[in-house]
Amino acid sequence: GGEENGGGGGSFKMPEIRYTKLFINGRFVDAVSGKTFETRDPRTGDVIASVAEGDKDDVDLAVKAAREAFDHGKWPRMSGSERGKIISKYADLVEQHAEELAALESLDAGKPVGVTRVVDVGNSLHSLRYFAGAADKIHGETLRMSRQMHGYTLREPLGVAGLIVPWNFPAVMFFSKVSPALAAGCTMVVKPAEQTPLSALFLAHLAKQAGIPDGVINVVTGFGPTAGAAISSHMDIDVVAFTGSTEVGRLIMEAAAKSNLKQVALELGGKSPLIIFDDADLDKAVELAIGGNFFNKGEACVAGSRVFVQEGIYDRFEQKIADAMKNWVVGDPFDPRVNQGPQVDKVQYERVLRYIEQGKTEGATVLTGGKPCGKKGYYIEPTIFTNVKDDMIIAKEEIFGPVMCLMKFKTMEEAIARANDTRYGLAAGVVTRDMDVANTMARSIRAGVVWVNCYFAMDSSCPFGGRKMSGFGKDDGMHALDKFLAVKAVVTPVHASPW
Ligand code: ADP
Repeated sequence: GGEENGGGGGSFKMPEIRYTKLFINGRFVDAVSGKTFETRDPRTGDVIASVAEGDKDDVDLAVKAAREAFDHGKWPRMSGSERGKIISKYADLVEQHAEELAALESLDAGKPVGVTRVVDVGNSLHSLRYFAGAADKIHGETLRMSRQMHGYTLREPLGVAGLIVPWNFPAVMFFSKVSPALAAGCTMVVKPAEQTPLSALFLAHLAKQAGIPDGVINVVTGFGPTAGAAISSHMDIDVVAFTGSTEVGRLIMEAAAKSNLKQVALELGGKSPLIIFDDADLDKAVELAIGGNFFNKGEACVAGSRVFVQEGIYDRFEQKIADAMKNWVVGDPFDPRVNQGPQVDKVQYERVLRYIEQGKTEGATVLTGGKPCGKKGYYIEPTIFTNVKDDMIIAKEEIFGPVMCLMKFKTMEEAIARANDTRYGLAAGVVTRDMDVANTMARSIRAGVVWVNCYFAMDSSCPFGGRKMSGFGKDDGMHALDKFLAVKAVVTPVHASPW
């Protein structure tokens, strides 16, 4: 790998960068301060574009627009089916611009363009269409109360949502928050990550074209400690939904508590186990371990970074995965043969390399990779460590890069105990042909999702979100609506009930 990362291009057209300003109240505007920041191409480190740097003043303007659109605008007052129709139209527009969106995403985040088109754009569309369909299925319940009272509940849009998203799946993360917030009838201020601001601005433009009223979606690009913190501590935002690191999740919850006690939903880090039993289909298991760790260059909160392999197949597994990695191509994400692009930026690149060095120092053995590659840009060899102990830092902390820890286990009970011995609880994978083992594992692992004989099986219809220090609240599925809805009970006496 590495050599292929020079020219790029191939059959894919580089996107034109058209939107670089904040999107507030339906218009692209400069930051109040006039400041900009640079977003860089992870293949080279070169500047792609200068983007408006929003801060507190800009967040205030965006919240004002969102508040006006919520308190007096059409969006929260429309019928669900009307909202659904507009969200569907938004999906159609995104689909019409699929190529451009995929290219933008690949350029800004360093993702193989073939994958971006299928996975990132595909999931974005699925999310919009799922929640377009959900918009007219939001309803309360009737209550049979113990006294002579009749009660029912309403599920009302909660208000203005602050949506802070990361850089690893910029468009997918944008829609994982925006689609359910739209369906619920909320208005919103979105802050994309400073590493990858471009797709959110493009998507804001398409939202306007789709007929989403001004002020419903506002996008403030900028940095976390400034623009992000202004959202989490804002007095007029009703809920903040965040995806990102556990450290920042803690800051967001603190800011929410110290300001107006806004509701909080956090989708944070993980150190997820992938547990492979003796009876597993070995080829399949190897494929899942590779995908679970090196897909999206390991920049995935659900990465199955602790791979536990049962002792009976351990040696064969190790041999097979080392062989399989010989066909894994690291290089320019615009080259269709490439499996793995560069890490998103210099900070992440250096952070991952520090962890790799840490693993070597701690005494783990490098089976594959173990160093950077390519002449420029942020490329790292996919790295597999063996002889990893559970208490090594590489086995405990989220690395968020192409680094796998391979470990051996004897019994199912041991696998359960070690899998759960983590502060995180986001995802898990189990590979076995034995239904009893699969069922026991599925019930025993404390995680938001357990994938059996698959991994990374994310879907807009499947609730997603962790426990423990992986956060709380769900993205995707009908549960995702909950954080954007207020439940109101209405109670009235019943004077003449026959029952
Ligand atoms: P990573 O460490 O993977 O870059 P972060 O959790 O830092 O992930 O970033 C996720 C999102 O949170 C980004 O949009 C980032 O700008 C934002 N962010 C970072 N720090 C803060 C903060 N103190 N308050 C609010 N948002 C923040």
